[in-house]
Amino acid sequence: MVTPLEEDFMHMAIAEASKCQPENRATPLVGALAVRGAEILATAYRGERKKGEHAEFTLLERKLTGQELRDVVVYTTLEPCVERGHLKTPCAFWLVMRQVQKVYVGMLDPNRDILGLGYRTLRAYGVDVDMFSPAFQQLIEAQNETFAREIERSSTTLRFARPAALKVPGPTPINSLRTWLARPLAAGTSSGSFKYPITGEVAGLDRPEALHVYVYTNRRYEGGTFPIDTDGHFSGHVILNEQSTSYAIYFQVIRGKETLYRTIAMVR
Ligand SMILES: [Zn+2]
Repeated sequence: MVTPLEEDFMHMAIAEASKCQPENRATPLVGALAVRGAEILATAYRGERKKGEHAEFTLLERKLTGQELRDVVVYTTLEPCVERGHLKTPCAFWLVMRQVQKVYVGMLDPNRDILGLGYRTLRAYGVDVDMFSPAFQQLIEAQNETFAREIERSSTTLRFARPAALKVPGPTPINSLRTWLARPLAAGTSSGSFKYPITGEVAGLDRPEALHVYVYTNRRYEGGTFPIDTDGHFSGHVILNEQSTSYAIYFQVIRGKETLYRTIAMVR
């Protein structure tokens, strides 16, 4: 049962979306807000800080940087994205890494290659998800009518049925992930930073070339790129400059500019 207060927040997210400056006909209006109980922590809309910047990214990574969000509910008028440009982290993954409690979604992405995958990705990683109330969904669909029409026209109908497009990131194919996740952080260096070993094996993917790893701590994320050899092995380390009680580790396996797999591991 949606409460009047929650509906107020849905309404505010829509008001945020209406602040978006149109980029072109095929871009959506998106608004987002983060709340803890009755308190609004931050609001954001697409393009607020930078042209084309996604609302959820602005909300989490520009306005709520370094804040604990485990008891926070995010309202976003459009389903969070699961694919972005080369080496950009999609919003659904940001929401998972920041460990928000719940996400309310106003409208599923009309792009048939994405439709429902943001929703399912959040669920697969244990984030509670629900849709806005029907009346608000209608408002958002009206707000994005042009976008939806353009996107539906340009998305290839049959691609939706491709297994690859339907794959929801879930249990990792990186076999020995647990092995190194279980290892404690290596001893601190003289500068107070910590060396985090990254070794393992990628299985079940077609000719993977490299693994990008971002270890996300409270305030920042540190990353590295590791080549994957022909047997699927990778090895290296990431230097962390602060200690944290929990880490979200984002993995992206690539071949050229193509993303073969994404996943997140939580270490607490
Ligand atoms: Zn996004």
